Amino acid sequence: MKPATAKISSVALKHNIQLIKQKAPESKIIAIVKANAYGHGVEFVASQIEQDVDCFGVARLEEALALRSKGVIKPILLLEGFFSETDLPIIAVNNIQTVVHNKEQLDALKAAKLPNPIKVWLKIDTGMHRLGVALEEVDAYCQAFEKCPNIEPHFGFVSHFSRADELDSDYTQIQLERFLTATKGKAGERTIAASGGILFWQASHLDLIRPGIIMYGVSPTDTPAQEYGLEPVMTLTSSLIAVRDHKAGEPVGYGGIWTSEKETKIGVVAIGYGDGYPRNIPQGTPVYINGRLVPIVGRVSMDMITVDLGADCTDKVGDEVILWGKELPLETVAKHMGLLSYELMTKLTPRVLTEYID
Ligand SMILES: *Cc1c(COP(=O)(O)O)cnc(C)c1O
Repeated sequence: MKPATAKISSVALKHNIQLIKQKAPESKIIAIVKANAYGHGVEFVASQIEQDVDCFGVARLEEALALRSKGVIKPILLLEGFFSETDLPIIAVNNIQTVVHNKEQLDALKAAKLPNPIKVWLKIDTGMHRLGVALEEVDAYCQAFEKCPNIEPHFGFVSHFSRADELDSDYTQIQLERFLTATKGKAGERTIAASGGILFWQASHLDLIRPGIIMYGVSPTDTPAQEYGLEPVMTLTSSLIAVRDHKAGEPVGYGGIWTSEKETKIGVVAIGYGDGYPRNIPQGTPVYINGRLVPIVGRVSMDMITVDLGADCTDKVGDEVILWGKELPLETVAKHMGLLSYELMTKLTPRVLTEYID
């Protein structure tokens, strides 16, 4: 009987990469594998897809170096840039590329003594207003890049959408136009589309796309990605460790927040907030057991949840429980909880076992 286990399918992962290539056949791919490949295990994910992608995208230098130490040779891009000037020599010798989004980073690049120049990407703020240089600063940054011997002559341009998941908003189009105008006539490659842009805004694909969540078979909206032909890479499972007779009118779990209306059977599943399954969730959030959905009742504990199996159930101790996966999309679970799919998949703790299937 297995406790909380994330089953990871390389077949699904490779299927998703191929589907993404079909959607953006003219664009190169920066595969986003930050946050331990969204909880899927970065070493495994990178090894499975390295041949099919052009570059990997991470958020931290430590993530980039972990990939290098596992033998990854494709370029790796630091999506938020470097955090300290002492990172620059490490970036230079490890074939790591970096975003530059502010003057402090440019000054550090100018002042550094490096064994070889670094490939950089100018981050342009087209409306997210989180990172990036202003549209009217782009020309000045390009001139400074051209003059800086520590920067490779072929630098690129990057921006990020803030509302690409909102299909009825015109903000994405506005951001795209600003990006195209600011980079017009410039030689460098351009990239603005993450998962939302890839799925919903074809004109935004440009030279490179940056798929994150859709690579893992989950959509950036609450519509299950299976509707776009993607397949979930992770199935989060655990097991029933008890099936208990439960009397009408009796509460279950900490605080007694749920009381049964009628006689039933309560299943106890070996997963809890200690595994990263969120504690504050509405009653009735579904799990999948033996071909059907059943509701979580009572509080989520550190190591267990309780579900209402119904009086006539035939479930047994040891039966597999699916918290999310093909049978019960993560998007559906996240929507029930009022959380983001992104959040749920990156929250899992190291206690959850990982099993690579097929
Ligand atoms: C995380 C990230 C991505 C991937 O986003 P998804 O919505 O998961 O596809 C792309 N670009 C940047 C800059 C990011 O930080």
